[in-house]
Amino acid sequence: MPVDLHTHSTASDGTDSPSQLVRVAARAGLSAIALTDHDILSGIDEASAAGIEHGVEVIPGVELSLDWDKGGMHLIVLWLEPRAGPLQDRLEGLRAGRDDRNASIVARLGDLGMPVDLQEIEAEAGGGSVGRPHIASVLMKHGYVPDFDTAFEELLGAHGTAYVGRPRLGMEEALSLAVGSGGVPILAHPHTLGIDNRFEMADLMDRMREAGLLGIECLYGSYHRPGRDGMVAMARRFGLIPSGGSDYHGTYKPDVAIGLGRVGLGVPDEILTELESVRGLR
Ligand code: AMP
Ligand code: ZN
Ligand code: FE
Ligand code: FE
Repeated sequence: MPVDLHTHSTASDGTDSPSQLVRVAARAGLSAIALTDHDILSGIDEASAAGIEHGVEVIPGVELSLDWDKGGMHLIVLWLEPRAGPLQDRLEGLRAGRDDRNASIVARLGDLGMPVDLQEIEAEAGGGSVGRPHIASVLMKHGYVPDFDTAFEELLGAHGTAYVGRPRLGMEEALSLAVGSGGVPILAHPHTLGIDNRFEMADLMDRMREAGLLGIECLYGSYHRPGRDGMVAMARRFGLIPSGGSDYHGTYKPDVAIGLGRVGLGVPDEILTELESVRGLR
């Protein structure tokens, strides 16, 4: 049975509650999902309980945005248990950085003639980790932008006029914290790194593997077949496990289906077995 090792719930910027997410996964015929909300583990307990009820294995996880100038470097950490630990203890600080960033974005939007309320954005997030998709959704409700993509292209994306960065963990630091917490770190959706040169990519893979990286997300929700096969071959050459997940966000990304992404993904459960076999070995 297929699995999905990259999903988001209302604990961050997904629109399904953790238990709804598990129900959707069960209906889609998945044997396991990883819940990988941004900087937060608060959805894990609910998802795990729903997993027992619906016969879906739930792997506790998180997605982190790392410090990286060329583009977006995201790290998925699987088997990060919701309790105290070296990486777990850093998450609250990362969420505080989001709060400061969101306040700055709101101030910029006001300057741009699009007044929105921080409280409204927090209400949209429903008490979880607040992200730019929540801001995009509020901008749409006010009629300032016609859709999500425009919100990111013109305002909230890295080149948008209301973009504000936030403090992030460094690559080596995050990998060491992840491994020190018993997690399995995986480089997410490598196309966002902004690297188009394979030598540069090779250097980065070597550096990251030495710092503790164990997997790379080769089967991503928007990668078509030939690209996926090429990435799996690359992962193997670098001694990394080819992981996979859809990056499901519910109705915030309506074209991304759980387990399938945009491309009919189908991540085999052998990958999960292989990832689990390297857990705790570092
Ligand atoms: P944040 O966690 O606040 O930095 O927001 C990151 C999230 O915003 C990602 O996980 C995506 O869900 C979403 N996102 C980032 N860039 C875009 C984009 N260009 N279009 C739509 N959604 C995006
Ligand atoms: Zn997200
Ligand atoms: Fe991501
Ligand atoms: Fe994600």
